[in-house]
Amino acid sequence: MEQGYPELRIEDLNVVYDTEYGCVRAVNGIDFSIRKGRTLGLVGETGAGKTTTALALMRLIPDPPGRVTSGSIELLGTDIMSYSEREMDAIRGKVVSMIFQDPMTSLNPVFTVGAQIAEAIRIHKNLDAKAAMDEAISIMERVGIPGERAKEYPHQFSGGMKQRVVIAIALACTPQVLIADEPTTALDVTIQAQVLMMFSELSKASNTATIMITHDLGVVAEVCDEVAIMYAGEIVEYGSLEDIFDHYRHPYTEGLFASLPNLNDRNARLVPIKGLMPDPTALPSGCHFHPRCKYATKLCAERAPVKTVIEQEHYVRCLGYEEDAGVALEGFGNK
Ligand code: SF4
Repeated sequence: MEQGYPELRIEDLNVVYDTEYGCVRAVNGIDFSIRKGRTLGLVGETGAGKTTTALALMRLIPDPPGRVTSGSIELLGTDIMSYSEREMDAIRGKVVSMIFQDPMTSLNPVFTVGAQIAEAIRIHKNLDAKAAMDEAISIMERVGIPGERAKEYPHQFSGGMKQRVVIAIALACTPQVLIADEPTTALDVTIQAQVLMMFSELSKASNTATIMITHDLGVVAEVCDEVAIMYAGEIVEYGSLEDIFDHYRHPYTEGLFASLPNLNDRNARLVPIKGLMPDPTALPSGCHFHPRCKYATKLCAERAPVKTVIEQEHYVRCLGYEEDAGVALEGFGNK
C-alpha cells in the first residue's frame, strides 16, 4: 500500500437524528482513513448508515433533525468539524466532491451540460467563460462524451451519459477526495460496467482518494482497494479487498457473500440473511447483529463487541474473536 499522510481520516464519528419516534443513532463510532489514489468501498444494506456517513464528511447533515455528536473528520491533515459554512463552501467541490445516485438530482434541466461543467470549473479555478468552456469540453471527452454535445441539455442524454456528465462535473475541479454514492445503481447493467471502469481509471489517473458507497459486492470487486462492511451504523469488518473477499471473518460479511449467486455452481442455493436491518430508534442490545446471526449466544445480546485486529489493517467486531468471550463460530465459512 502507498504510505504517507491519509487524504481523509475519520475518527469515532457519531451522527444522530432526532425524530418523533425517538433518537436515531445513524452512525455509531466509525473510523477509517483513505490515501491518495485508493478507493474504499463502504458496503451494507439500506439503512446501514452509508449515506449518512458521506453527508457527514461533506458537512451536509441537515441540522435539525441531524447532528454530528462527536468525532473528527481530518481532511488533508486539518479537522474540518470546526469549519464555518463559508470555509466549507470553499472546499466542497474543490477539495472534496460528491456524486449522487440519481444524476438528475445533480443536473439542472435548463442549462446545457457544457455550461454546467464550465460553471463548476469557473467557480473553483477562477477562469474566464471561454477558458472554462474549453476545459469543460476536454473533460467531456475524457469521460467519453463527444465535445460537440456540450451544447445539449440533460434531457437529450441517456441515463449512462447523464451519469458521465455528473462524474465529469465531480472530477472537473480535481478534488483530492471524491465520494460516490451508488453512482451506477440507476444504470443498466451493461452501462454500469462501462461507467465504473471509466470512473476507476479517471480517479486512479488523478490520484484521487475515493469512497465508493454501494450495496453491491460486484462493484466493490471491480473498483475498491479497501472495504468497510457497515451494519446498523457501525463498521463490523474492515480490510483490504483480498481480506474481505478471500478471508472474511464476520458472520454478517459471510451472510452477504452467501446471498450472492454462484456463477460456477448454478445449482447452489442462495442463502439470504434472515430478518431485516434493525429499527435504528431501538437498536438491539449487545451486538446489533445478534437477532439475525446464526452463531449468536446469550452473551451476544448482552455485550457489545469491540474491534479485534485479525491481521494488519483487517479487523472485525464480533465476540467470536474476543478470547475471553467464549463464543464459538462453529462451522463458519462452510458453504
Ligand atoms: Fe454473531 Fe455474536 Fe459475533 Fe454478533 S458477536 S456477529 S451475534 S457471533
